[in-house]
Amino acid sequence: MPSENPPYRYDNALGSIFQKARGFIFDLDGTLYLGEHLIEGADRVLSGLRRSGRKVAFVSNKPIARRGVYAAKLRRLGIPCEESEVINSSLVLARYLAAHFPKARILPIAEQPVIDDILRHGLRITDDPDAAAVVVVSWDRGFNYEKLLAAYRAAANGAALIGTNPDRTCPMPDGDLPDAACMIAAIEACTQRQVHPIVGKPSSIMLREALALIDLSAEECVMVGDRVETDILMADRAGLLSVLVLSGVTKEEDLPHITTVPDAIVGGVRDLLPFLAEASGP
Ligand SMILES: [Mg+2]
Repeated sequence: MPSENPPYRYDNALGSIFQKARGFIFDLDGTLYLGEHLIEGADRVLSGLRRSGRKVAFVSNKPIARRGVYAAKLRRLGIPCEESEVINSSLVLARYLAAHFPKARILPIAEQPVIDDILRHGLRITDDPDAAAVVVVSWDRGFNYEKLLAAYRAAANGAALIGTNPDRTCPMPDGDLPDAACMIAAIEACTQRQVHPIVGKPSSIMLREALALIDLSAEECVMVGDRVETDILMADRAGLLSVLVLSGVTKEEDLPHITTVPDAIVGGVRDLLPFLAEASGP
C-alpha cells in the first residue's frame, strides 16, 4: 500500500503526463485492487479522470474469468465500469484465433472462461491431439499430465502453440499464485518449441485492442500498472507513457533491478490525485 508520504520520484514527469494524456489504460490486479480490496484512491482517480473528459480502459492479463466478471468486480469495489471497457487475455486470445485460425480445432490447456470465450467467437474445441491445429496454453488450475501429454502430441503433429499471458504469478493478498507462465514452461520444455504469440501484455496484440477500444493512438495514452515486464514493457515498446505503481508485485527494493524504466513511479494510484486536481484535461 502507498506510504504516508509517497515518494514522487518523477513528479515533473507526472505533471507533463497529465498534460499530454487523453487516455489512461489501467491494469487491474495490484493496481486498482488486490484480491477483494480496492487499492486506496482508485475510485477517486477513476472518477476524476472521467470527469476531466479522459478516456479509460481496463486491461488485465488474467484469463480465469470472462471480462464481465472483472467489470462487476470493479463496480462492487466502487468503480463504475461497463463490461465493454474491460479487455482481458482470454478475450484477446479468442479474437486472435477468430482472425487467424477461424477453421481450426483448438485444444485448450485452460480453464472454462477461456473455453467459453473461444466458443463465443464461433471456434471449435477438441481434446483430440490428432485433430487439433492449435494448442491454447493458459493459466489452468486443473493442469495435469494428461493435458501436458495432449499438448505435446498435438505439437508433435504441428499444431500452433498460442498463449494467453506470460505472467509467472498473480498477486493475491494471502500470497501470489502461480500463473500461466508455469503451464507455458512445461509445454515449452517437452516440445522444445516456443509458445508464440502470447497475446496478453506485453504483446502489441493486447495493446492494439485497448487502443482500439478508446480510439486513441499510443502517444496519447498512459499505461498504469504494477508489473514491469508486462505493463511497463508493453508501454515502452509502443511509445505510451507509463506509470509504475508499487502497490502490487513490484516493491521498492526491486527498483534498482528493473530493466524497463517507467516515466513515473508512485506508491499507488492515489498519488495521482494531486495531479488530477490541478489539471482539468488536455
Ligand atoms: Mg497487475
